[in-house]
Amino acid sequence: MPLLKSASDVFDQANDYLMRGDFASALNKYNDAVRKFQKVGDVNGATQAYAYAAVMSLAQNPSNPNAYRGAAQALHALGDSPVKLGLRESTGNALAHEAEILASVMEWTSLQPASTAQYQQKAQALRQVATAIRSDIGSNVLVLPELFRQGSITGESQALALAAQSEEALAESMIATDPKAAAEHYQTARLWWSQAGNGVQADAAAAHVAQYGKSAKCWFCGREVAGENIHFVPMPSDLTDLVKAADKDSPLPSFDPQTGNVYACKGCHGAVHHLADALATQRMNELDAKIQPQIQDLKNQIQSIKNRVNML
Ligand SMILES: [Zn+2]
Repeated sequence: MPLLKSASDVFDQANDYLMRGDFASALNKYNDAVRKFQKVGDVNGATQAYAYAAVMSLAQNPSNPNAYRGAAQALHALGDSPVKLGLRESTGNALAHEAEILASVMEWTSLQPASTAQYQQKAQALRQVATAIRSDIGSNVLVLPELFRQGSITGESQALALAAQSEEALAESMIATDPKAAAEHYQTARLWWSQAGNGVQADAAAAHVAQYGKSAKCWFCGREVAGENIHFVPMPSDLTDLVKAADKDSPLPSFDPQTGNVYACKGCHGAVHHLADALATQRMNELDAKIQPQIQDLKNQIQSIKNRVNML
């Protein structure tokens, strides 16, 4: 029996770790195998071990687009030769393409847009990724997420989730200008989420539909606005039944009958808020001016007591 393990022995060991789901140990062994294959000049062996190592390193960077791009590059080098990941067998090229698609998914789903234009860009990019995943993966299961125990997701159900997120990004791009249209896009997103079987996200989208689709008449100025907490806000008030009754004729509510809060458009709410803020600051300054001489006087008294004590 040879004292040193051969490159293919180490490669087999790595495969065992992979089968057991110990990806960190598998990564170490594949890296060992790369070095051993290189030492004996086995380029094919090294290329293969390197591709497996790149896939294993995804376990440590499950949402890093660059890790997926690196894995894609390493897998491409294997061409159409078979790659066995756990129970699934695929090819280098097929897995490389999946890794590229997943890199785009990670990249665009994690983007937090800072402007309307970026929301539009995100919406468009996600729609493109959804189309690619539907046509290229289709009813097949995504191999890499399954390997890393993120569930058995088909291309079609991943495409639905991406389409939903695309609609949500589009909705967010419209909130400032057209909250009603934003609500409609959240409604479409809700539909895609339920078809993808994600009830939590479907409910969250439905809550946005209700919020952005809701319209009110400003209690103060009478403007009609849509988009609760965006373009109008509920404010605590003391409404009497007589005052409430006087507002009956309007088709849009100007208060919430449950809480008694009145609805204020952002313009009126802002004006009230800034005035209240200015008055509070003014009162505080007045109080401060009154109290400072008294504090100074007390300090002086304490100091003189201290001085007397020290003289004893
Ligand atoms: Zn108003």
